[in-house]
Formats: sequence, C-alpha cells, structure tokens
Amino acid sequence: MSAATERQPTVSPPSLKVLIVGAGFGGIAAAIELRRHGITDIEILEKASDLGGTWFYNSYPGAACDVPSHLYSFSFAQRLDWSRLCSAQSEIHDYLRDVARAQQIDRLIHPHNTVTSCSWDDTACNWTVETEEGSTYHGDVLILATGQLHQPARPRIDGAETFAGHSFHSAEWDHGYPLAGKRVGVVGTGASAVQFIPEIAPEVERLTVFQRTGNWFLPRENRRYPPLVKAAIQRIPGVQAFRRGFMFQYCEAITVAIRHPRTFGRIVHARSSAFMRLQLKDSELRAKVWPNYTFGCKRVLFSSRFLPALARPNVEVVTEPIVRMTPEGIVSADGVAHDLDCVIWATGFKTNDFMFPMEIVGSAGRDLREYWSGGAHAHLGMTIPGFPNLFVMYGPNTNTSGGSIVFYLEMQASYIRQALKALRARGAGAIEVRPEVEAASDRALQARFEGTAWTQCDSWYRDEGGRIVANWPGYMREYRERTEQLVAGDYRFMPAPDRAPLIGSQK
Ligand code: NAP
Repeated sequence: MSAATERQPTVSPPSLKVLIVGAGFGGIAAAIELRRHGITDIEILEKASDLGGTWFYNSYPGAACDVPSHLYSFSFAQRLDWSRLCSAQSEIHDYLRDVARAQQIDRLIHPHNTVTSCSWDDTACNWTVETEEGSTYHGDVLILATGQLHQPARPRIDGAETFAGHSFHSAEWDHGYPLAGKRVGVVGTGASAVQFIPEIAPEVERLTVFQRTGNWFLPRENRRYPPLVKAAIQRIPGVQAFRRGFMFQYCEAITVAIRHPRTFGRIVHARSSAFMRLQLKDSELRAKVWPNYTFGCKRVLFSSRFLPALARPNVEVVTEPIVRMTPEGIVSADGVAHDLDCVIWATGFKTNDFMFPMEIVGSAGRDLREYWSGGAHAHLGMTIPGFPNLFVMYGPNTNTSGGSIVFYLEMQASYIRQALKALRARGAGAIEVRPEVEAASDRALQARFEGTAWTQCDSWYRDEGGRIVANWPGYMREYRERTEQLVAGDYRFMPAPDRAPLIGSQK
C-alpha cells in the first residue's frame, strides 16, 4: 500500500451511517475512501458469497481484464508483481480481496444479502433497505454500487425451454460440466466470448459460434511478463508509475479515435483492419466476421487469439439469425438445424436495468424505475433529483470504452466523500442534487455524443429509445475535472430531523 493509506481523517465526527450495496470494485472503493476520512459506520450488502462483483461472477475460462492491470487497479494500492499486462480473473479477485483485507473492509461486508428494496423516509431522513433473505437495514446514506454489468441477459428464443442439452450463461459458468468432446454452441461474440472461445475450442468436439455482429479487433498477446521486465517494474523506481501514466494516455487515445471517427478514428481503424486481415487468411471467414459499423461504436476487442480460433477445423461461425431452439439444438434462419450438447449464452448483461429489479423509492414516494422510464440519467452518473442521500456508482453514462472503470470509481468515491463532508459541515440531514443542475448536465452530456462513433450503430450502450445511457462521452481526465471538486451549489441541503443518531441495524 502507498503512503496515501496513512492519510489522516478529515471528516469528523463519524456519525453518518452508510449502507453500500455491492462489494465489487465500486463498493470497496467507496468504503475505503469514507473510512479514511473518518466515516466508519459502514455496512456493505452483497448478494454473492464473497466480494468481487464482476470478478467474482465471471470465472469463465480465459476471463481476464482487457485493460492493463497497472491502470485497472486502485491508485492507492498499486501492485508491482502483476503476472502479465492484463491480469486473469483470479489474480484480480485476489487483488481485491487483499486490498479489502488490508484496508479492513472485508469485515464490513454482509454476504448473501440480495437487496430487494430501498426506501427513503422524508421525516426520519434515512434509508430503509430490505433483502430477499429477510433482513432490514437502516442508514443515513445509501450507495448503490451494483454497476452496469451484473445481471446476465439471455435472449428470448422460441422453443428455448425445450432444449434437452445443457446450457449456462458465461457469467454463471458451469465448471462442473465437462465440455471436452461435446458439441457446443456459443451465442454471442462480445468481450466475454472472445476470451473463452480460444480456451474451449481445442477441447470441444465441435464449436458452433452464433454471431450476430462482428467486432473490430486490436492485437493483444498478453503473455506472462518476462522476468527482466517484472524485475524492472519491481526494482527500478518510477517504472511502474510510468507504465500507469502511459496506459492512461493510451486509453485516452482510444477515446480520441471514438470521439473523432473521421480523422483519428480512421487511423486506428486502418490499424485494426490490417491486423484482422493478417489474422483472417480465409476470405469466406473474413467476410463473415468483418464488422459492418464504424470503428469504436461498440467495444473494440483486444485479442490475438480469437480470430485464429475461429479458423480451427472444429469451429464453425454461423451468421444466419437464430430462429428457434429444439430439443436437439438451434435452428438458424437458413433452416439448418445445429445439433448441440451444450449452449453457452455469451449474450451480455441487462445493462439498462442498472440496479433494478431492486425497488428504489425516494422522496415523496418517487419511484426510480418510473422516474427513469424515459431513460436513466444522473448528475455525473451519481446523484438523482428526488433521491436524497443516494449515490450511484458506475451509474448512467459512466461506462468507458477506452479507459479503466476503476479510475471512474475512485473519482466517484472521492466525490461521494466530498458530498458527505458538505452535508456534515452544514449539519444537514440530507443532500440532493438540484433538478435543474442534473437536467442541464444531462443535456450537455448527451450533446457531447454528437459526431462520435458511439452514435453510429446500435449497441448495449443505448436504451430502448436509442439514448446512450451507458457511456461517458469523453475522456477520463474530463471526468476527473468534473468530479474532483464537488460544487456545493449544485445541491440542496435539507435540515436534519430531530432524532438520535442511528445505531446499528435490525436483522
Ligand atoms: P456483450 O459485449 O454485450 O456481447 C453480447 C454478445 O451477444 C454480442 O455479440 C451480441 O451481439 C450477442 N447477442 C446478444 N443477444 C443476442 C441474440 N439474441 N442473438 C444473437 N446474439 C446475441 O457481452 P459480454 O461479452 O459479456 O461483455 C459485456 C461487457 O462486459 C463488455 O462490453 C465489457 O464492457 C465487459 N467485459 C469486459 C471484459 C474485460 O476484459 N474488461 C471482459 C468481458 C466483458 P450484438 O453485438 O449484435 O448485440
């Protein structure tokens, strides 16, 4: 841990009770930041049996981060001994566990707590949180750190329930089911499929990949660091910091390409095309997998192993749409029946649902699902009018196509801490973003998408109405500039109720 860990608390007294939902990178970042600044009465509710969020659930073969680990890690807990550029799931999960333990966050986590509802009491100025397991928690402040990518999405396909083989989602990998020698179908070719297909292709008898849309690729071998490189990172002062800084700028450059598809985007597009041509020697396969949309509109994928895996003799790519499932397998629009023993859904997540199906009821009974029926929006992705003392982490428009989400989460944790500090400084009971501020920031944010690659195709970044609700439209540095200093004038502060401080929780 760096010296930052030793920083002295700046907020006192520590009498705010904070409930955090989700023990992934976001929830852990928030808990660390608050504790360091003297807010120590924190409970973290987690539906899984362990912390980790994404890195707990996504354990499919080959699961790894596609953002370099020196950047995809907390600034205050930099590791010098990552085994490779982009670490595997287990290494990231271990890292998160180590950080939580070192920062004494692990003891704040209540596993097996699936939050079903959160409701704000205007009189008592507090949140009541209920769980599926029958527990009730109360807190002055609620932080929803459930992220955008935690509820597996499975397409509705006619006859799916009749399929007699085995099936599971990539985020719920069935490690007990041996794939060796089986006829396996993979539906979807997004970031997850691209990582596990090269791993499973050599062991299955036959792999049928159902692709709806192709992807743009950039190379990534991701071999283990040679001992010399590892030693340099560990022993030469500044090497690690330099790498982190370099990767930050590299990621920002990807955002430049996405923001400027006609200029810089063309250069990176040319680089991607050249790489893909080199990898796809077979012209028929190349035509099948070639993307038909602007570079950067969907997530650009980094892999030097996926396209060659598709060229294996036991792998077939099907681009005909899926029309139905039968007990034997999948039937595509050309009438071909693909007989399968197992179907793996690599079909992503219900990204527009954010924290739902949780019921969130704010001030004067305002229901978040109704409030967001026209599309999710929040000031800097975190605060929502009518929802006092509620903060969302990895909320609307804070996903990144190029950068590290951990960077955004750290900025959010710091912003939330500043908000709570402002609340305490005023002796107020609640803080709520002004509706006109939130509306103006949302308008400005949406306008920033104009002319970018993100607007040039359909993707999971959009909601049903076509609004881009997942992504931040700019650079990491811009998000830092916007969140580094909380503007207190953007918020209303409500008086504290006349009551004794909350103590403990009821279960
Ligand atoms: P995804 O990117 O949303 O990909 C889902 C895939 O399923 C797409 O190819 C999609 O096709 C396809 N699909 C969806 N519905 C379908 C249907 N009805 N029929 C046929 N195909 C269908 O999901 P993901 O791969 O799980 O990745 C989700 C996100 O997680 C990524 O974008 C990334 O942000 C994150 N992730 C990150 C890493 C990392 O290394 N950091 C690794 C994995 C995932 P269309 O493209 O046509 O919609």
